[in-house]
Formats: sequence, structure tokens, C-alpha cells
Amino acid sequence: MAFAIINGKTAAYQSTTDEVQQKRLNRTDFRYRIRTAMSTKNSSDGTSASRPPQPSSTRPPTSRVALKTNIVVIGAGQAGLSSAYHLKKRGLAPGRGFVVLDQSPQPGGAWQFRWPSLRLSTVNRIHDLPGMRFSEAVDTDATEVKASVAVPRYFAAYEKAFGLPVYRPVEVKVVCDRGERFRIETDRRDLSARGVINATGTWEKAYVPVYPGADRFRGRQLHTKDYRTAGEFAGKHVIIVGGGISAIQLLDEISRVTTTTWVTRRPPDFRAGPFTEDRGRAAVALVEDRVRRGLPPNSVVSVTGLPVTPAIKAMQARGVLNRLPMFGEILEDGVRWSDGTSLRADVILWCTGFRSSLDHLAPLMLRELGGGITMTGKLATQVAKDPRVHLVGYGPSASTIGANRAGAVAARELMAFLGEEKT
Ligand code: FAD
Repeated sequence: MAFAIINGKTAAYQSTTDEVQQKRLNRTDFRYRIRTAMSTKNSSDGTSASRPPQPSSTRPPTSRVALKTNIVVIGAGQAGLSSAYHLKKRGLAPGRGFVVLDQSPQPGGAWQFRWPSLRLSTVNRIHDLPGMRFSEAVDTDATEVKASVAVPRYFAAYEKAFGLPVYRPVEVKVVCDRGERFRIETDRRDLSARGVINATGTWEKAYVPVYPGADRFRGRQLHTKDYRTAGEFAGKHVIIVGGGISAIQLLDEISRVTTTTWVTRRPPDFRAGPFTEDRGRAAVALVEDRVRRGLPPNSVVSVTGLPVTPAIKAMQARGVLNRLPMFGEILEDGVRWSDGTSLRADVILWCTGFRSSLDHLAPLMLRELGGGITMTGKLATQVAKDPRVHLVGYGPSASTIGANRAGAVAARELMAFLGEEKT
């Protein structure tokens, strides 16, 4: 804004550049406002990022909401980006129509945090996001590229290519029902929206079962999500707990540098033959049936089993897959089974999976007594108790291909429910 003395009075006038600037601002005023609002950390209520999200609103009902939009997508992993892509494709405007909030420091969802030895050659399979192939952004021949490098590169290119309004790092603390609209409280400013697509994955909710004596163990305990390299364990005896794909991958790596013991609750369910699409569909159908009945989704491996890969055959040949049942308690220097046998160990690695990270939705009281959330809709993404909420990447859609499909359906169903469907 420029000032001049006109007729003896100071008057503001807009120079051409200002006018152009203002027009551009007007045109992007909403995005400009959200970018500004999301760049300042919210410290008014004294909540700090380290304090876990409060299960209920920490704002007085009268406090001003920063921004209103129609749909908020929480999380910018595969599930969030697929949902955002389809919301835009269905004509919802980035910013006023929908925004994506992501607490991760950069694009890539939870893939940016995966351990360095997880390479494109050792991931199960990362499915393309809708509208852009992985190979358009990443040289897929370079199979030794870390997944934690390749996927962020792909997601960054994707967000840019489709102009998706992703704001990060923004942590959603709680989502509260305010009648017509939801109030989405973040560690930045708050938003209000008519619908929510939650796509927060599982990485934030590492699951470690409680065993007696865990606190007296003098060795090291860590979860899959803390794992970096096998070299860290050289010269140590490592107990690896868990029967899933990650447990097998880490057992394979660690057993090459030191001694290991593998323990699982149930005998491993090795399944010969290729993991076909039919087997994939059958596994998804089992999980879908559970969530439609309001039961918590169970672990992936409990429905897929462990496909016998060449790596598993090699491990069997090396004799590292001699599984023991779960121990009963943890000692200062190891573990003990119920029959009294004990084993000395320096490290317990809990490859015991993840749970869906949904704490920020607690005020909506979506859970059933059994602990699950009853899902409905074409692909079981819609919350039966509140159709304005969709969970993408939850239960049957907790895979890259599942997240793709679920994102498309959630966008369509939610826009239709809110009367936002563009003809
Ligand atoms: P995520 O990728 O976890 O993204 C969720 C995003 O939400 C993150 O950026 C997170 O920071 C953000 N977020 C969380 N909470 C909040 C909050 N409160 N506020 C704001 N943002 C928030 N699937 C496959 O199909 N193929 C594979 O090869 C494969 N390998 C896997 C290997 C491992 C070790 C694991 C753990 C999973 C693997 N999966 C694989 C499953 C995989 O997680 C999913 O397939 C998919 O990538 C999950 O995407 P998502 O978008 O649901 O979650």
C-alpha cells in the first residue's frame, strides 16, 4: 500500500503493482491466509507439541476459528493423497473446498521414517497413486534406493503435479463435533469443516504388548519403528518378537550379524505359492467384515499369512526360523517361559505391529464397546455413527492399493453426503 498527499490529506492508494498484488492476493487470499495461519505455532493455550493430544477440546467454545473449509483431510500419506486427488478431481477447490493437514516434516507419509535397509527391492509392493506412476518420479531400476528416499520423492512430485493443498508440519490435536461443523484443533491454528477424511495411518501408534518384568530388563528394548541397522546389534543376543513381515525382514538382517531368537504368539503361518490378487482380495474381505461389525481390524499377517518368498527359503536353510513360543515374563538379563526355561538376552526387538492412530478423533466417540469402529459405505470407509467422517487407510484399506481405492470412494461418498457433488 502506498501513501500520497492528495488535497492536503494523506490518502492511501494502490499502485499498479499493489493492485496486481491485491488481486493476486484476493484470488489466493484463502490459501495465503491458511499458509500464514499454519506457519505460526499455536501457543495461546499452552499446549506444546510434546504433550499428547488432549482427548477433548482445549479451546473455549467462543474462541475464533481461523479457517473454514468444507473437508479436512488429516494425513498426507498414500491414503490422504489419494483422497485429496479425488476430491480435487471431483471439482472441490483446494483451500476453500478442502485442505490436507500433515504432521510429518516432509512429503512421504510414514515412508520417510522407514529403516534405511528397506529398499525398493525389499518392500512388498508400492502401488502407484492415482494419476501418476511411481516410475514417473523415481527410477524404479535403481532397486537399492531406500524406500525412505524414493517414496518422499514420489509424493513430493505428486503433491506439486496436482497442486494439492497440503499444509505441514501441522499436527491435528483433536476433532470436536460442533453440530453443523467439526472444529479441528491443531498445534497451529484451528479449522472448521463439514466433513473429515482421516488418513493418519498407524506409524504413530507402535504397539508393544505388556509383559511382567519389562521395566526391570537391563538390556535394550525397541520397536520396529525404532529400528535402523542390524550393525547396531553386533555382539549382542537379540530376541525378535512377532510373526509379521517386518519381524521376518529384521530377523533376516540381524541374524546375519549376530545371534537371534525368534518368538511368536502363534506358530507362523507360512503360505506356499505366490500371493495372488485373489488371496489379497480374500484377506481384505476378512478385515472388511470385521470393521463392518465394529470390531478392531486385526493384523495384516493374521489374514494374509506369510508368503514363502526366496528370502524365507534362504532363512529356513540358514536355520534362523526356528521359532519359539512367547515367553511368560521378562527378567533383568533375559526372558523366562512358563515351563521355567530362561534365556539370556541383550536386546528385545518388538516387531509387534501398530494400531490405527485415531486418538485425535476421541471426542467424536466413534468406538464401539468392542474397541472397534463400525464402518459402512462401499469400501467400509464411512463411519456408521457419523457419515461425515471417513477413515481411509484404516482396516481393509491399510495398504497402498487399498488406500488408493478407498480414497476415491471416500471422496465420492463424502461429497455426496455433504451435497458437494459437482455435476
Ligand atoms: P501413512 O503413510 O502412515 O501416512 C499418514 C500420515 O498422517 C503421516 O504423514 C503422519 O505424519 C500423518 N499424521 C498422523 N497423525 C496425524 C495428526 N494427528 N495430525 C496430522 N497428521 C497426522 N503397504 C503396501 O502396500 N506395500 C508395502 O510394501 C508396505 N510395506 C510396509 C512396510 C512397513 C514397515 C509398514 C509399517 C507398512 C507397510 N505397508 C505397505 C502398509 C503401509 O503403511 C500402507 O500401505 C500405506 O503406505 C499407509 O499409508 P497411509 O497414508 O494410510 O499412512
